Amino acid sequence: MINIVLFGKPGAGKGTQAEFLKEKYNLTHISTGDVFRYNLKNGTELGKIAQGYMDKGELVPDSVTIDMLQAEVEKHPDTKGFLFDGFPRTISQAEALDAFLSSKGWSVTATIALEADDEVLVERLLERGKTSGRADDQDEAKIRHRYREYNEKTAPLISYYEAQRKFHAVDGIGPIAEITHRLSSVIDAL
Ligand code: AMP
Repeated sequence: MINIVLFGKPGAGKGTQAEFLKEKYNLTHISTGDVFRYNLKNGTELGKIAQGYMDKGELVPDSVTIDMLQAEVEKHPDTKGFLFDGFPRTISQAEALDAFLSSKGWSVTATIALEADDEVLVERLLERGKTSGRADDQDEAKIRHRYREYNEKTAPLISYYEAQRKFHAVDGIGPIAEITHRLSSVIDAL
């Protein structure tokens, strides 16, 4: 079993690359952002809790997010591995993921970061916002708030995974297929 954490700032291309990698390596893709958006659209209790945070570009509280992630993992007992996209985003989430996977005899195999410059990504998100319908992609102040959340709460995960010798980074700028190739080279060497 291989469990990959796809890591990177909003707009770095995690979702796009996950679509290719899940097929190539036969992995179960879990995007916490997608699960939250699905719940929002369907007006579930979880969606109502998440909405206020998502609208402001803030992280949904850890307890809510961790419970949701665990429920998603439990839906796939026979998988060959997971591709986590947008999770974990805080040290608490990473610790909870380690503990949860370990309770099943599993572990995070590697974390792979898609690296890109903030200014390039802000432009990319504003472009995406024109067609994605995502409120959090349409307002530059909200986008910048998501980057502050990332720098404050998510960036410390780099040291967390480096300490476990599980952190890998690839250049996230370039043609989509080229970036898939860079990510695949890391996965093939695991
Ligand atoms: P994303 O599609 O990954 O950019 O996520 C969109 C929004 O969903 C984020 O701005 C957060 O409000 C929420 N979200 C997604 N994943 C997480 C997470 N792991 N922890 C907390 N909030 C999250």
